[in-house]
Amino acid sequence: MLLFIAAVIPAMLMTLLSNKKVNELVTNYEHQSLVEKSRNYALSTFSNIAFARSRLKDLSKETNASGIDTMQETSINFSSQKTLIFRSITEVSSNGVILKGDIKKQISKVNLQQLENVDSNKMRLIVLSGDTHNKTSSINLIQRQSSNKSAISFLIAELEPNFLWGDTRDYPSDFNICAYQLSNTLRTKLFCSNEKNISNTPLASSPLNNGAWELFLRGEFGEDPWVFEVNRVVPITQSHLKEFVGSKAYISIAILSLLIIGLLSLIQIRKTMIPLETLVKGTKKIALGDFSQVKVSGSSEFSELADAFNHMSSHIKHQLNTLESFSNIDREIVSKIDVEQVSHLVIERMRLLEPDAIFCIGHLEEKSSSELQCKCTISGHAALSDIRLSMTAKEVDTIKRYNDGRIKQPSLTSAFAHETLMAELGVNHMWVLPIFWQGEICAFLAMGSKKNLDANSKYWPEFRELAGRVAIVISAHAREQKLLLEAQYDNLTGLPNRILLQDRLKIAMEHADRDNNPMWVVFIDLDHFKVVNDSMGHSVGDALLTEIGKRLQAEVRESDTVARFGGDEFVIVLASNVDENIKLNILNRLMTSISAPIKISNHELINTCSMGISTYPNDGTNPETLIKNADIAMYRAKEVGRNNYQFFTQALNDKAAERMEIISLLHKAIENNEFELHYQPKVDLETFAIVGLEALIRWNNPTLGNVAPAKFIPIAEEIGLIATIGEWVLRTACTQLAEWQKSGFGKRLMSVNVSAKQFHLDNFVETIKSVLIETGTKAEYLELELTETLLMNNTTNTLKTLLEIKELGIQLSIDDFGTGYSNLSYLNTLPIDALKIDKSFTDTITSNTKKLPIVDTIIDLAKNLNLKVIAEGVESAYQVEYLIAHACDQIQGYYFSKPLSVEDITKMLVSDKNFKEPKLKLVKAPRKNTRTEK
Ligand code: C2E
Ligand code: MG
Ligand code: MG
Repeated sequence: MLLFIAAVIPAMLMTLLSNKKVNELVTNYEHQSLVEKSRNYALSTFSNIAFARSRLKDLSKETNASGIDTMQETSINFSSQKTLIFRSITEVSSNGVILKGDIKKQISKVNLQQLENVDSNKMRLIVLSGDTHNKTSSINLIQRQSSNKSAISFLIAELEPNFLWGDTRDYPSDFNICAYQLSNTLRTKLFCSNEKNISNTPLASSPLNNGAWELFLRGEFGEDPWVFEVNRVVPITQSHLKEFVGSKAYISIAILSLLIIGLLSLIQIRKTMIPLETLVKGTKKIALGDFSQVKVSGSSEFSELADAFNHMSSHIKHQLNTLESFSNIDREIVSKIDVEQVSHLVIERMRLLEPDAIFCIGHLEEKSSSELQCKCTISGHAALSDIRLSMTAKEVDTIKRYNDGRIKQPSLTSAFAHETLMAELGVNHMWVLPIFWQGEICAFLAMGSKKNLDANSKYWPEFRELAGRVAIVISAHAREQKLLLEAQYDNLTGLPNRILLQDRLKIAMEHADRDNNPMWVVFIDLDHFKVVNDSMGHSVGDALLTEIGKRLQAEVRESDTVARFGGDEFVIVLASNVDENIKLNILNRLMTSISAPIKISNHELINTCSMGISTYPNDGTNPETLIKNADIAMYRAKEVGRNNYQFFTQALNDKAAERMEIISLLHKAIENNEFELHYQPKVDLETFAIVGLEALIRWNNPTLGNVAPAKFIPIAEEIGLIATIGEWVLRTACTQLAEWQKSGFGKRLMSVNVSAKQFHLDNFVETIKSVLIETGTKAEYLELELTETLLMNNTTNTLKTLLEIKELGIQLSIDDFGTGYSNLSYLNTLPIDALKIDKSFTDTITSNTKKLPIVDTIIDLAKNLNLKVIAEGVESAYQVEYLIAHACDQIQGYYFSKPLSVEDITKMLVSDKNFKEPKLKLVKAPRKNTRTEK
C-alpha cells in the first residue's frame, strides 16, 4: 500500500507540476508571441517613418533649391507619393503662418512651441494633437529649414496613416494592435487597428493576451517613445488552459498513467513484497524453532536470498541441534556423572549425523598388567548395546597412537578386540578415535560403516568434540569415585566410616527382610583407650586402632561390614545369613581377638572392649536407631564392668531415655534452686552421741521428682557438671556447719562427698580454701569422703592433692570401702583418717551369720592402720550390736536416722539426745583410740 501511495503521489504531483509548467510555458509563449508581434509592428512602423523621413529630406532639399513653386511642382510630381506617404506637406513660418502648401492646415500655439524645438540638422517627428474637429493626432515629420532670405520656416509633413500604420484591414481581426506615445505622464493613443473591439477587462491586460514593445524614437526623431501593444480581441483565459488540463483526454491519460503506475507498483510489490514476506515469515519461524525451508519462485535476487536464507537456516538448525545435544550431554555430566548415559547421548547425536553408521564408545576400566577391561556402548544393536571387551595393553597403545582418528578396515581375524567387534557387527570400514584425558587414553570411539569413509569428513570435528565430552564425564566420574572413597572411608583404618555404614546398614536391612534373618549391629568401644592415648601418645593410639580394625575385619565375613564409628568406637554389621549361634561365636571371637596382646613399638598392649548389640528388626527399623540402641547396650556393658557384651533391651532403652532427660534438666538445676542438702548423723558407738553429719545432695525436679544422687551424680560427672554441683555442695555444707557452730551445736564433723572428677580438677584445693574462708568454717571440722577408685588412679597427683588438703587440716575418709578392689599396700601411704564400710558389707551382718570375714577384716585393717572405721547402712539393732561387739567406731544408718533436712536435723541437734544403745547380746570388743595414736 505504501509503495502504491509512494508511486501515485509523485505521479500526481508530476501531473500538477507539469500542468503548472505547461500553463506557464503557454502563457509565456503566448505573451512572447504578442510581444514579438508588437515589435514587428513597431519596427515596420519605424521603417515607414524612416522611409518617410528620407522622402521628406529629399523634398526639403528640392524645396530649398527651386522655391515653393518647384516644390509645389515637386509636390504635384509627388502627389501620388504624397498621398501614399504624406497626407499633407506644409511650410510654416516660425510664427505659425502657413507659407506654402496645404493651407487647410492649422497650427495651434502649442504646435508652434513644439516647432521651435526642432533642430535644423535633425528631422523631428512630432505628434500633433488634433483640433477640435479632428480628435485624432497627426504624426508629422518636421524639417527646420532656412531660406535665402534667412527666414526660418518649418516643413511639416503629416504622415499618411495608411502609409504609417498600413491598412487596418490587413491587420488580423483577432488582434487589436495599438500604438501609444509615452510622454512623462501622458499616454497618447496614436493608432488602433481594431478600435471597436478594445477590451478593457483585466483579463485583456494579462500577459496571456497582451504584448507590448516600446519603440525608441528620441535618438532619431527626438520624440517620446511609442509603445506598440498587441491585444487579443477575444482574450484567452486560464480556464482555457485548464480546460485542456481538465479535458477528458487529459484525465484519461492521467488515470491511465496512474493505473499503469498502480499496476507496475503491484507487479513490483508482488515481485518484492511476497518474497520479502516469505523471508520474514521464515525468520519468525526460525525464532520459534521451525527451520523449514522457504520457497521463493523465479530467479530474482530474492530467490538467491532465499537460497542463502535456507542455507543459513539449515546451518542454524544444525548448530542449534549440536548445541542442544551438547547441553543435554553437559547437563547429564553435571547432574549424574553417568559415563554410560553420556556415551549413549553422544552416540545418539552422532547417529543423527551419520544414520547408517554403527558407533561404539569403549570406556577403559580397571587395569591389570596385561589386559584392560573395556565397557562398550554400542548403537543400533540392542542385543549388543553394552558389552565388555578385553583389550591388551598393546591394543590400547595402538589406539592411543591414532591421535586425531584413523580409518581402518576391521577384520574378524584381527588381533585387536575392537576391530573384531566391529567386523562382527558387519562393517567394512571404521574410524577409530582415541579419547584422552590429561594426556592419558581413557576411552575410544569407533565408527563403523559399510561405505568407504572420507578421511576429511566434515563430521569428524564434531565427533571429536563429542568424544571430548566422554573424556569429561570419565574424569568427573573418576574424581567423584575418589571423593566418594575419601568421604566414605576412614583415613586411619581404611574402614568404612559412619556415612558408608549408614548405606551398608540399609542394604543389610533389605537383605535381612529378604532372608527373614535378623541382622545384628555390634557397637564396640575399647576399654580405657584414653589411658593408652594419654600415656603413650597418639601415634601408639593410632597404631592400636589400625590393628584393632584389621583384627575385627579378619573375624567377620565379606558380607559383613566393619566400620570405624569414631575415636575408639567400631560398629560391625553382622549381615550374613547365619544363625544366632554363629553370630554369638563371632562376638566371642571378636572379644578374644581384641584381647590378644598387640605389640606396638616397644609396648605390648593388652586391650579389652565393651560391646553392645542391637538386632534388626526387633531393636530398630532404621540405621540411626539400631546404632543408638547398640550404643546403649555397649554403655550397659561398660556399666557392668567392661570386657563383656550386652544385648539391647527395652529397659536399657528406657534408662537411656531417662538419662537423656536427666542431662537436659540437670543443666538448669542449680539455676532453678532445685538442689538441697540433707544430713545424716554419724553416731559414736561408745557414747551414742552424734559425732558427725554426712551431707547428701537431694535433687527435687518438677518433672522428674526426687532423683537419687546415685543416678544423677555419675551423669553430672560425665557431662562435666560435677565441678559446679560439687562446689555448691561444699559451700552449702560449710555454710551450714559454720551456722551450727555459731549456734553452739558442738564440734561435730561435717562430711562432704567428693567425686573423682571433682577431686582431679586443677583448682579443687583452691576452691576448698576459698569456701573455708568465705564461710568461716574451721577446716578441722570438715571431712571429705573419697572413693577407693579415685585414690587408686593417677596416684602421684592424687597423693599430692591429698597432702595439700590434709595440710589445710581437713579430714579424709575412704567411702564405700571394700567395693573398689583397693591395692591395700597403698593404704598405708595415704594421708587418710577413716574407712567407711560399704553398706553391701553391713548388709551381710544378719542374725543368721556368725562370722563375717570382710566386715571383720575391714575393721581390723582400719585398726591396724590406725584409721577410724565407720559402718554405713546400719539398719538393725543386731548390726549395731555386732559392730559394737567388733569395735567399730561409728555407725551411720537408718537404724538411728535417715538423712534429714536442715530443719529436722537442727531439731535433732537441738534436742541433743543421745541415741539409745541397743540391748547388747554380743560380747563387746575392746576399742583402741586410733586417732590419738596416729
Ligand atoms: P554414700 O556417700 O555412701 O552415702 C550413703 C548412702 O547410703 C546415702 O544414699 C544414704 O541415704 C544411704 N544410706 C544411709 N544409711 C542407710 C541405710 O540404713 N539403709 C539404706 N538403704 N541406705 C542408707 P544417697 O543419699 O542416695 O547417696 C548415694 C550416694 O550418692 C552416696 O553414697 C554418695 O556416693 C553419692 N552422693 C550423695 N550426695 C553426694 C554429694 O553431695 N556429692 C557427691 N559427690 N556424691 C554424693
Ligand atoms: Mg558418702
Ligand atoms: Mg557410701
